[in-house]
Amino acid sequence: MATDRIVGIDLGTTNSLVAFMQGESPVVIPGEDGLNLVPSVVALDERDQIIVGNAARKYLIETPERAVYSIKRLMGRGLEDIQEELQLFPFRLAEDLHAGEVLRITLGKKTFTPPEISAFILRQLKRNAERFFNAPVNKAVITVPAYFNDAQRQATKDAGRIAGLEVLRLVNEPTAASLAYGLDKKQNGIVAVYDLGGGTFDISILKLHDGIFEVIATNGDTHLGGDDIDNLLIKIAIDDILGDANLDVSRNSEVVATIRKAVIETKIALSSESATEMDIELPQGKRYQREITREQFEQLIQPIIDRTVGPCKQALKDAGLKPAQIDEVVLVGGSTRIPKVRALVEELFQRKPHTDLNPDEVVALGAAVQANILGGGSEATENMLLLDVTPLSLGIEVAGGVTDKIILRNSTIPASATQYYTTQIDGQANVAIHVLQGERELAKDCRSLARFDLKGIPPMTAGMARIEVKFLIDANGILHVSAREQRSGKESEIEVQPSYGLTDDQVENMILDSFDFAEEDFRRRQVIEARNEADTILAALEKGKKSPAWGQLTSDEKKKIAKLEKALVQTKGEDDYSAIRTAIDLLNQGTMRLAELMMDTAVGTALKGKNMDEADMGEGTETGHPVARADFE
Ligand code: ADP
Ligand code: MG
Repeated sequence: MATDRIVGIDLGTTNSLVAFMQGESPVVIPGEDGLNLVPSVVALDERDQIIVGNAARKYLIETPERAVYSIKRLMGRGLEDIQEELQLFPFRLAEDLHAGEVLRITLGKKTFTPPEISAFILRQLKRNAERFFNAPVNKAVITVPAYFNDAQRQATKDAGRIAGLEVLRLVNEPTAASLAYGLDKKQNGIVAVYDLGGGTFDISILKLHDGIFEVIATNGDTHLGGDDIDNLLIKIAIDDILGDANLDVSRNSEVVATIRKAVIETKIALSSESATEMDIELPQGKRYQREITREQFEQLIQPIIDRTVGPCKQALKDAGLKPAQIDEVVLVGGSTRIPKVRALVEELFQRKPHTDLNPDEVVALGAAVQANILGGGSEATENMLLLDVTPLSLGIEVAGGVTDKIILRNSTIPASATQYYTTQIDGQANVAIHVLQGERELAKDCRSLARFDLKGIPPMTAGMARIEVKFLIDANGILHVSAREQRSGKESEIEVQPSYGLTDDQVENMILDSFDFAEEDFRRRQVIEARNEADTILAALEKGKKSPAWGQLTSDEKKKIAKLEKALVQTKGEDDYSAIRTAIDLLNQGTMRLAELMMDTAVGTALKGKNMDEADMGEGTETGHPVARADFE
């Protein structure tokens, strides 16, 4: 039994999941609703409480100013990086934002940074895991896209910390997917990971040597995915409705939301069926009905899925490989459930892709495998190192505003490299180190990651000082830079705090804030749990009334029960969990004799105030967790 459980988390643009290693195989931990996927949607309700996942989705339509999705697109980015995202997505930035500041998103009257919003999602996943294990979970492995830069990785780590998770490792998503398929056991080969999710497409080429993964090339399109398919079908439906029913619904957000739901259902149905019917209720008593065959669907989406071909070819080219040299193809992302997408991938790489695992779960499953390795739980993979590449070159600005690259793009990480420099002016005491990321020649065209000064160099003629600049990218892809003047031994170093990252103090404050929210969340949960319990008791009472035992009660007893029942029904509607609990207890006491009379039945169990889970099981409703829990403890 693991002493300290480490979970694996896929923090996705569209959906997020948490998984863990159960014996030899990784499994996804479902949420309270029994679903594995937690939509990456966060909302702030009317009482300023945070809502995450499926429950938050309705806010996107009803009160969009209180909800946000696709927050992953803003992680570790600054105002000038996200102009395109602002065109395409309804992000509501705080009004008082200035260039160079950490972004803040408005939800209701509050503002939150992207790491804080991601932290809300992570906390939901953490809670799901804690509920599942019935024990605290404080450590996690979190996945990130292979192309995430330093700032984006830092922001993800910050999100983990804010959520109360120690992030033991950030793992690249394609690496995680390959691990889930156990491809490391193959020892050698080339793996292509094709990831078509909700809004993004990523292709990664990994090289496996002696059981070690190395990401040798990445490419993709940050605005390509299942959403494009949905939007295309929505547009067709809206045009049809205008033509057939002479109704313009394009600006009716509720109807558009209904259409969206219907087209997603249609799309998903067509992944397993050859035809399906769309049937949508419209205003003015009108309907939209249309049969759509898989063939028609495939024709419609062909231009969308064809857009994945270019990046795949480019990645192969960057890796210096021909399609025939690919040994394994892994499918990731919900949109790869579409048979036409699978066919395209097979054609592109001349190989049948792996499809045994659910493509929208495979990254989380791999994260759980990595978590298990880090926890020392697996012998087979104990010695396995996971190598990734840095997606962009890293260097410093040198005289004349020129970029000098120190670690080149697509270098395997962990990586380190050292370059030597000298001074420009006689008696120069300080050297400004400006850390850059990017492929461009001029410093001004690269992304500025950090600046620091190496100070106190003793007076020397220009060109005499010998300054060693060392870059180290750790296993998480985070950069540490140090500079040292070798003659004097003066040195200076930093862990790069990205330009749009949070300072340690900010992260600390956010952790404190999140505790405030935790309290609110906790209170809310207690109300919900009390209400659920009340429902169980009330339902059991209904059954009790129909049982022979009811007839054995005196009319006074029955009257008393009716009064207590009414009281519980009333308090249940209020927000005071302790009042609900009291009413439950009173009804429990009041029905004690009834329960005794019915002792042998599940209803009796519930009325005697056994906990909800047991009562539920007794009644045969579908709650799977307690059964599984016993196995996993
Ligand atoms: P992300 O990695 O972007 O968070 P996912 O991997 O969860 O997202 O993929 C979500 C996308 O997959 C959505 O666009 C969803 O509609 C789509 N999807 C899920 N299941 C199917 C299916 N059976 N057929 C087609 N598309 C699907
Ligand atoms: Mg994904």
